[in-house]
Amino acid sequence: MIGGGPEAASHQAGRNGKRVAVIGGGITGLSAAQRLISTDPTAQVVIFESTERFGGIIRTEHSDGFLMELGPDSFITNKPGGIQLCDDIGFSDQLIPTDAEFRRSLVLRNGRPQPVPDGFMLMAPAKPWAIATTPVLSVGGKIRLLREAFLRPKTNPEVDESLADFVRRRFGREALDRLIQPLIGGIYTSDPEKLSLKATLPRFIEMEQKYGSVIRATLAEQRQKNGRPAASSGSGARYGLFATPEHGLGSLVDALLTWLQESGQATLRSNLLVSSLSRTPTTGDAANPSWKVSLSGVADEMFDAVILTLPTYRAADLLADESFADLAKALRDIEYASSAIVVTGHRLSDFRHSLNAFGLVVPAIEDRKVLAVSFTSRKFSGRAPAGHVLLRTFVGGAMQPELLEHSDAEVQEFVEQELSAMLGLTAAPAFSRVVRYNRAMPQYHVGHISRVGKIERLTVAHTGLHLAGSAYHGVGLPDSITSGRSAADRVQHGA
Ligand SMILES: Cc1cc2nc3c(=O)[nH]c(=O)nc-3n(C[C@H](O)[C@H](O)[C@H](O)COP(=O)(O)OP(=O)(O)OC[C@H]3O[C@@H](n4cnc5c(N)ncnc54)[C@H](O)[C@@H]3O)c2cc1C
Repeated sequence: MIGGGPEAASHQAGRNGKRVAVIGGGITGLSAAQRLISTDPTAQVVIFESTERFGGIIRTEHSDGFLMELGPDSFITNKPGGIQLCDDIGFSDQLIPTDAEFRRSLVLRNGRPQPVPDGFMLMAPAKPWAIATTPVLSVGGKIRLLREAFLRPKTNPEVDESLADFVRRRFGREALDRLIQPLIGGIYTSDPEKLSLKATLPRFIEMEQKYGSVIRATLAEQRQKNGRPAASSGSGARYGLFATPEHGLGSLVDALLTWLQESGQATLRSNLLVSSLSRTPTTGDAANPSWKVSLSGVADEMFDAVILTLPTYRAADLLADESFADLAKALRDIEYASSAIVVTGHRLSDFRHSLNAFGLVVPAIEDRKVLAVSFTSRKFSGRAPAGHVLLRTFVGGAMQPELLEHSDAEVQEFVEQELSAMLGLTAAPAFSRVVRYNRAMPQYHVGHISRVGKIERLTVAHTGLHLAGSAYHGVGLPDSITSGRSAADRVQHGA
């Protein structure tokens, strides 16, 4: 069922299963609803979405033979959420891997794209020889990076440390500025001086503690993996491990909507803004409260449980009642960064550079106006017509918010200039689209894990309320999906 209207409210009468409100129709909310329905044949789920379309940040459009991802373009497969969801709705056969031909990344050095050293995974240098010969680092920078293998581990690993502090301590400043900041900054659009290593990449802390060094851990893991297909056959942000639906991530959202509609247990209500939440009646059965969902322009509705999947500052707005004051305040403590993606289509022959990679990351130290350029049609087939390329250029983030104050036309102009300077673009693009994401990327700053712990402790006090989304235990699609599914399981278990 799609759409609003009074008939949706009539679900309240004569039901015997749990009635659950999912607030937010992005991938987290849709995954939560799917999980709830697949584990409880009696549940009735209503999904409220304030805009006219479901999918949230995920948005795929097709134009003149180009398949344009206006939000995320793929997901990592070594985290289970994405694959589990696709399996559950019979969608896995739609997934395609990255194109092995172009499986490498570039990093800008003194204005020129250079290959990221082979086998370099975020900050794990799997091939010391590739570090020794890379043009990305100076001789001193290489020696300092490789010396990591002989440094002592930190004695107080429990203390949260910023990414920048960790990398300077282990690999030296140059490795941070020239390689690791752009590779990791590109994922989190964050300031590495503030980014919590524990909340984002705890694996590296474990490697340091278990093997005494990240390099020694990487080499040991490689020896153990001997015989298995090497994940280190690429470079950069583990591109070889990414997948996406052949027809774009929008087709996953469509499949999910179809699954929900066919279940007969979901009501999909778009163009409906949830304005507030309250527990009612306050004098009723404290163990089984009812939740009142207030909607702008239509009658309030009552539910047994609520899964709230909005960015934390919006979730806090909905929890305006005095009884939620502490929780709302804790939710507002999570900061968000804004960014924009400029999607452009080009003739390949309009570039002097061959673009034979998945993309280019740009260190902040290079002082350019872009964070990264994804060569989208090199990553996945079927994204551009023959002889053409589709690029996605990232602008803004926590490090350059001022660039987003420019108009779309100005952003398009400086992106074109940067593409000319860095990649030798010689002609205007066939098309250029600016898509803005205001306060869409949660910032996992140092102390994030304890902030989330506090939010979770405060939420437990409000039986029937469940929070999910990219703000808590991981920013990407698989983590968002997993967080929606876990919230559904908590509803199911009456938490
Ligand atoms: C620019 C960008 C690029 C990204 N690229 C990748 C990538 O390549 N791979 C990857 O794995 N991850 C990527 N991510 C992260 C990924 O997009 C998110 O993890 C995921 O989309 C979050 O989904 P969500 O459902 O939690 O939130 P959203 O998609 O934000 O959905 C929330 C929904 O709630 C609705 N809503 C808001 N307020 C209300 C209200 N009051 N009432 C009702 N509805 C409301 C909104 O309209 C929206 O539809 C990217 C993120 C950004 C910002």
